Amino acid sequence: DAEVVFCGRSNVGKSTILRELTGHDFETGKKPGVTRSPGHYDWVAEDFVLTDLPGFGFMSGVEEEHREAIKTDIVRYLETNSEQILVGVLVIDANSAVDIIDRHTERDEIPHDVELFGFLADIDIPTVVAVNKMDKVDDRDERLDALCDRLGLPSPWQQWQDTIAPVSAKRGSIGPLTDAIRSHLHDQHRDDLF
Ligand code: GDP
Repeated sequence: DAEVVFCGRSNVGKSTILRELTGHDFETGKKPGVTRSPGHYDWVAEDFVLTDLPGFGFMSGVEEEHREAIKTDIVRYLETNSEQILVGVLVIDANSAVDIIDRHTERDEIPHDVELFGFLADIDIPTVVAVNKMDKVDDRDERLDALCDRLGLPSPWQQWQDTIAPVSAKRGSIGPLTDAIRSHLHDQHRDDLF
């Protein structure tokens, strides 16, 4: 089945986005596992499956070892299913992502979000970064440019609207995300014609 996969650190608002997209609740909570929602979505013409991958990164009460195992599972899932994955959506929290990335970089660690963004590119999965909780950010353009910089995309962010989708799921404002996903689906269908 063709699928669009969603991944992101825990608590970035992934479940809220999926609820906005599908109109029904996705399982929330810390239980790792893959949740799927097959079906037809009114914002796009074709059928596919939306896949919710477990949240990764820090979760209170979850052991480091277990968090690593979750990340390994996510990477393995993406690798194994890359042929059928039309788009990978990496959800991040606009309000904290740059700080978290910089904190890890200062410790000579590769930040999870940067690693996953690079990995999706390496395995040729078209990627959209859903920059959620934009309602909490007052320096919108600066924040999005800083984020592009951390992901290795030159500024200004406006040239990456197929990749960088600023949204506020809690407010039901996810238009830039559906637009970006749709643009990748259309690209692939055009390829099929030749
Ligand atoms: P998940 O762990 O990534 O699935 O995150 P959830 O969807 O459960 O959301 C985590 C928290 O972020 C909840 O308290 C949500 O209400 C909140 N949240 C989600 N989207 C937004 C948003 O656009 N803006 C703000 N301010 N909070 C949000």
